[in-house]
Amino acid sequence: EYTGMSKERMMEIRRQNCNPMIMKVTYYKKPVFVHQGYMQWLWDVDGNRYLDLFAGVATVSVGHCHPKVTAAAEQQLKRLWHTTNIYAYPPLHEYSEKLASYLPDPLKVVYLTNSGSEANDLAMLMARLYTGNFDIITLRGSYHGGSPQTMGLTSNAAYKYPIANGLGCTNTMCPDVFRGPWGGRHCRDSPVQTIRECSCAQGHCMANDQYIGQLKETFATSVPSQIAAFFGEPIQGVGGAVQYPKNYLKEAYKLVRERGGVCIADEVQTGFGRTGSHFWGFQGHDVIPDIVTMAKGIGNGFPMGAIVTTPEIAASFAKGVHFNTFGGNPVACAVASSVLDTIKEDGTQQISLDVGTYLMTELAKLREKYEIIGDVRGKGLQIGVEMVKDKASRDPLPPQAMSEIFEDVKDMGVLIGKGGLYGQTFRIQPPMCITMEDADFFLAVFNKSIHNYMERR
Ligand code: PMP
Repeated sequence: EYTGMSKERMMEIRRQNCNPMIMKVTYYKKPVFVHQGYMQWLWDVDGNRYLDLFAGVATVSVGHCHPKVTAAAEQQLKRLWHTTNIYAYPPLHEYSEKLASYLPDPLKVVYLTNSGSEANDLAMLMARLYTGNFDIITLRGSYHGGSPQTMGLTSNAAYKYPIANGLGCTNTMCPDVFRGPWGGRHCRDSPVQTIRECSCAQGHCMANDQYIGQLKETFATSVPSQIAAFFGEPIQGVGGAVQYPKNYLKEAYKLVRERGGVCIADEVQTGFGRTGSHFWGFQGHDVIPDIVTMAKGIGNGFPMGAIVTTPEIAASFAKGVHFNTFGGNPVACAVASSVLDTIKEDGTQQISLDVGTYLMTELAKLREKYEIIGDVRGKGLQIGVEMVKDKASRDPLPPQAMSEIFEDVKDMGVLIGKGGLYGQTFRIQPPMCITMEDADFFLAVFNKSIHNYMERR
């Protein structure tokens, strides 16, 4: 039973002593006062239980307070909390070797950070030093971090401040086959429209040609002939589980490499088995990046990030001294190592595939049933449900309506996320320990909340 600080007191402190921004992003009209978590469940201070389908923004990978990971953390906390990598300590080495074993050749050199923004900052720096070029291209709608540098990569105005952020970063059109100008019509005909590895069954995706054309136009208009890098999430997260047409990343990588750039996969959300079919999202695109950045699920919620790159790129970075006090912290490494073991032992990647596919198949039935569900997409447990005013216009469902459904879902005991440039996409990215029963519970709740909204409308 909770006997701590009252909700009123927390709100008062929030107003007086906390980053004022968090008042705006309590997410719900009344915040959820989270007290405790276990696996896919959260409890608030009043003892209400929630099915957590957002996992602290796609971060809790194997389950809140997973007993095995918690035990690994406890053991390391009793042995050594901190030293830096100016000394050699086992957890950093054990983890670096283990993480590298999950990546294809030649991705073998690991740098450990404390967050995704830090990992992406490092990747930007590394790409520039290695190539001797400056310009970096990202996709519209992407989120790659909130530091002044990574804010330039992030291509969503909500996360931008009026400073000289990310000099040398240029965005190109996101190959979004639902909201973008091309793709919707070709791809709607496809039998694989629900779970779309590819959005079109014809083998050659015409929409892809158009979006690659946009990338070529970006090369022709906005950057020098030689560039440093291309950043892409294998499936957008904050952007609302946006998937690209077949071969987009493959062709983009080729064009980027022809211009001297390196290709960077941001696996902060899609890594560690979340996409179900593969351990890394990039594997679903049949590409091998030059740098892979990761965070979130890497530590099941423990602050940590990493990048993995090639020995050649790493060598160019060795010209200066790169130091990070907490990067590779012994407790973080012990936790992350246990997360990798737990993913294997608990079969979480398979759960992602099975439960995720089931969820998407069932959500697609709701899409047929309701005029305001425009699109259901994703892979594994990286799912987006894009809401529209109506199917013909595909105009985003307005924030007020989104909020009503969202609050209703919460009041019935399920926490989901929101994303998309207009906040029009519900995001389902739970801890990867959820069950089919949890999926059924959510589907019933979601159905009811949309039904309620349609009745009121
Ligand atoms: N990349 C992606 C794809 C992300 O979703 C995020 C966080 N939402 C980041 C990078 C930044 O990570 P962090 O918040 O740990 O800095």
